Amino acid sequence: MEKIKLGISTCLLGEKVRYDGGHKWDPFLTDTLGQYVEFVPVCPEVECGYGIPRESFRLVGESQSPHLVTSQTNHDHTERMIQWAKRKVMELKRENLCGFIFKSDSPSSGMERVKVYDQNGIPTRNGVGIFARVFMEHFPLLPVEDEGRLNDPKIRENFIERIFTLERWRRVGEGMRNLIAFHTQHELLILAHSPKHYQMLGRLVAWAKEIPWKDLYKEYERFLLEALSMKTTPKKNADVLQHVMGYFKGQLSAEEKKELRELIDLYRQGKVPLIVPITLLNHYARQYDQPYLKDQYYLHPHPVELRLRNHV
Ligand code: SF4
Repeated sequence: MEKIKLGISTCLLGEKVRYDGGHKWDPFLTDTLGQYVEFVPVCPEVECGYGIPRESFRLVGESQSPHLVTSQTNHDHTERMIQWAKRKVMELKRENLCGFIFKSDSPSSGMERVKVYDQNGIPTRNGVGIFARVFMEHFPLLPVEDEGRLNDPKIRENFIERIFTLERWRRVGEGMRNLIAFHTQHELLILAHSPKHYQMLGRLVAWAKEIPWKDLYKEYERFLLEALSMKTTPKKNADVLQHVMGYFKGQLSAEEKKELRELIDLYRQGKVPLIVPITLLNHYARQYDQPYLKDQYYLHPHPVELRLRNHV
């Protein structure tokens, strides 16, 4: 598999670009995720022309349209940063990124809950960094996270699943046959995120011959990204697992069915991780040679080294 192109706040890679000359290296990102990813680093403050070291910035004013000002001298740099960010997103468009990992809490790069100070100097955590806002407005469906949120195993899993799926989608060649193959292999994964989008995408594929390829591709990508942005839940996953179980109706003994049903229930109750019933279903898919299931990314969505689906 080709490496997945991801934008990232430069300081997370260990580059000394912070206002104090330091970095915020995140070893998981560089050493683990980095095996599968080609990072495109972006440091808004340095690339916008501010030196290292520099006076730190903060957001002030309204949370929806805050100003970027220097913390001590109170100079307003909002317009300069916005103009730079608008040019930068046009440049990033050509990179065909599958997502972005932002540095949390930064007035330039933070994607949520960044401190915004009111006129009395009281901060509220409800802002978005200036560059992050321009980026997310420009690429509203692209997977984005920050390094802090990625410490949560569920958020991390969802993000990784989205970027791997988007990378595979970007490599789908032109033509109905390729689209149908992609769709078929991702049906269960889409179903686990959004049964509604599963139906919408199914209908779109059924009507595909009537739709010009460019429109079809765009529409499919939009529905796919919308679907993946919806989180899976134990209930949605358990429903998909039950559905998969149906493929072995005629092959499993009553005892094996009981064991599988119990495992799915234990997963639903949060007592075992998703990987447990998935492993057993994968085993049956191979044993009973179910080509449809063996091809489903839902049953093996990302490299085992990332140790996902391993939490309760
Ligand atoms: S948080 Fe953003 S602006 Fe600040 S050093 Fe990191 S990449 Fe640069």
